[in-house]
Amino acid sequence: MNEKNEDKFVTAVNCMDGRAQLPVINYLKEYFHAGYIDMITEPGPNKILADKSDTILIDSIKKRIEISIDKHGSNLVALVGHCDCAGNPSPKENQIRHIKSGVVMIKKWFQNIHVIGLWVDENWNAQRVC
Ligand SMILES: [Zn+2]
Repeated sequence: MNEKNEDKFVTAVNCMDGRAQLPVINYLKEYFHAGYIDMITEPGPNKILADKSDTILIDSIKKRIEISIDKHGSNLVALVGHCDCAGNPSPKENQIRHIKSGVVMIKKWFQNIHVIGLWVDENWNAQRVC
């Protein structure tokens, strides 16, 4: 295994739900060879970003992504939604829309960073949606 990959940081904007942590960590380690995942958590962050109403919270998320990029050299941000979410109780198709809209927002903030969307399904498997 490449030693450099083991040191690499990536960033996840994930739900605070404990069930969503390991699936996202494992996915990013497996598919993006991440060594460490900086985890930025809120309840239903896809909804927070898609709603665009809580500007204080959105600024806080942005600031934390910035730290991960600037201090840890992350070049990948994953925005996550999951089933049975207390913070975003919308049906899956709406949640996927929220993820896509949030991904667009993060891409506008950080132009040289790779931004993807992940969905954690009812079996707690993460899959890429955009
Ligand atoms: Zn949740």
